[in-house]
Amino acid sequence: VAALRFSEARESVLREVSAGRSAPSKDLVELCASSGRILAEDIAADRDYPPLARSVRDGFAVRAADFPGQVRVIGEVRAGDRFSGSLRSGEAVEIMTGAPVPDGADAIIMVEHIKRDGDFITTDRPVKLNEFINPQGSESERGQVVMRSGERLDYAKIAMLATVGRTGVLVYSKPRAAILATGDEIVEIGEQPLDHQVRNSNSASLSVQVARAGGMAELLPVARDNYEATRKLIERGLEADLLLLSGGVSAGKYDIVEKVLAELGAEFFFDRVLIQPGQPLVFGRAQGKFFFGLPGNPASTMITFELFARAAIELMSGSAETQLPLSYARLTREFHHRPGLTRFLPARRSSDGLEITPSGWQGSGDVGAMARANAYIVAEEDRELWAKGELMRVLDK
Ligand code: AMP
Ligand code: MG
Repeated sequence: VAALRFSEARESVLREVSAGRSAPSKDLVELCASSGRILAEDIAADRDYPPLARSVRDGFAVRAADFPGQVRVIGEVRAGDRFSGSLRSGEAVEIMTGAPVPDGADAIIMVEHIKRDGDFITTDRPVKLNEFINPQGSESERGQVVMRSGERLDYAKIAMLATVGRTGVLVYSKPRAAILATGDEIVEIGEQPLDHQVRNSNSASLSVQVARAGGMAELLPVARDNYEATRKLIERGLEADLLLLSGGVSAGKYDIVEKVLAELGAEFFFDRVLIQPGQPLVFGRAQGKFFFGLPGNPASTMITFELFARAAIELMSGSAETQLPLSYARLTREFHHRPGLTRFLPARRSSDGLEITPSGWQGSGDVGAMARANAYIVAEEDRELWAKGELMRVLDK
């Protein structure tokens, strides 16, 4: 079909999946089991937050207009309590962080800013109106939507659900992704391979990547490099919501995945992307299901999943958006590559996150280099050289 640049291929995946995905069903799950799931309902505040004006400091509730000056302490209020009376000019109520501001008070003075003498406090500073007061409803008002369907639940969103009193929450069901490794040379992990065989590491990395993206992995048996076996297993794979194939998409004589898919009436959106690793990547749809033909070299399979299939699974999970975890770090040494391909290469990011060192590797079959890396440098297709100390784009692992 067509060879696309990295950005074009990524846009193609986002566009096709956003347009072609069907609405997932919904599951009701217990609050703390909802981590990483996609919210399937809008969440409204059940009351004002905060429900009362609240002090954000330990100190004294006062009237701002009394200061600079001296006032008399008439009582105290702590978090979990309310002050019963009302505060008048010339008076202060000792207050703790989180406690409701007494009626009549319009500012808080920090305890560090006063001098206390028996029942009296003094400060020679002016006090600003509403200082250190979190007004009622300032975080959210009762009925206001605080989270929307399509957001991925993380610990802070789960804290918000707990705050508004949700012990359970509606989330979207996980899409099922069938994983189909291909190749005559592939043996099961528990087997002793002969010298010309390799263990099936791609099905292992892919199942973990699928789960991390929010999908449910379904492992199929390895397809041998002949039409009948490959076709039968591809047909089984297309019963899932998404089919992830590894191997069999290069230009070799026994790379038959594309031919079998074409026979099954597949539509191909692209079958080559100007990236390394992973150039022969295939993306299409057959029998109403999206599929990716991921190149079989382990680094190619892992990287192309992260760059493309992960986005597809996130969108199919009902997520409103999907982003690549990209950032910048300073190169600890010079880096150059041949322009024309966007490269994603194993690297080590320093513990403070600020520096990046490209790793050596033996190419896209080097599982060890992938295992040692904690990030990837991203070398854009239109640039040749990055000097030591320059900022370079980094993809998180
Ligand atoms: P292919 O894309 O089918 O040409 O495969 C490229 C290379 O990737 C093969 O020579 C294998 O060494 C390796 N490979 C393919 N599939 C797997 C797999 N499932 N697990 C580990 N390595 C694989
Ligand atoms: Mg193969």
